[in-house]
Amino acid sequence: MDRDQLRAHLQFAADLGVAGVSRDPVWRARSDAPPAADDPPAPIGDAEAAPAAFFKDAADALVAVRTEIGDCTRCKLHTLGRTQIVFGVGNPNADLMFVGEAPGADEDVQGIPFVGRAGQLLTKIIEAIGLRRDEVYIANVIKCRPPGNRNPEQDEVETCEPFLFQQIDIIKPKVIVALGKFGAQTLLRTLDPISRLRGRVYNFRGAKLIPTFHPAYLLRNPSSKREVWDDMKLVRKLLREDSSP
Ligand code: URA
Repeated sequence: MDRDQLRAHLQFAADLGVAGVSRDPVWRARSDAPPAADDPPAPIGDAEAAPAAFFKDAADALVAVRTEIGDCTRCKLHTLGRTQIVFGVGNPNADLMFVGEAPGADEDVQGIPFVGRAGQLLTKIIEAIGLRRDEVYIANVIKCRPPGNRNPEQDEVETCEPFLFQQIDIIKPKVIVALGKFGAQTLLRTLDPISRLRGRVYNFRGAKLIPTFHPAYLLRNPSSKREVWDDMKLVRKLLREDSSP
């Protein structure tokens, strides 16, 4: 652990109410002792959420995840031209969450997911079921832009995905829409084509997951808007079912 990481770790602990540290070997050897600062670092991708009880609310817990990610250097994407991390945006208590693939050029500049042309279409899709963009939560499987918008590679997904899982576990959406082949295949651990995956409801981390076409695909294939509309009607139905007494 270097000095900056140690400072961030201590700040995080202080924010949680930890008043001090002890070097007493008896105290450090107690059965519930946290790992010592000089223990080996957690393996890459082993992002484990702190218990929800530590945090005031979901917004606070999301801030802690963002702080934990820091100016991430865990995978090679930080050396491949990304400008910044694109964490996620929206309502920390959203019933509906959208998960895309990875930030593109516009997202990389603005630090906000789905703000380019595909993002504008996503906003229209959200509004088509009577919601506002700020009522849902939007994130990606990985948080840094791959060079030239190539597909994320396996090591990048393995490193970054645990942070998405933390976001999902904090927000606890009722419904997750996986946007596009990559997002759906990654979350569902399958290589089935999106055309086969969509139209069905999957259980995923306590939510109902619905795969649909990516808005960027829709820009190139407008005739598939009909299927996406069908998927979004299903989303609306599930949200309503879930909120009825
Ligand atoms: N495509 C994605 O998958 N995510 C974004 O944030 C933008 C475009």
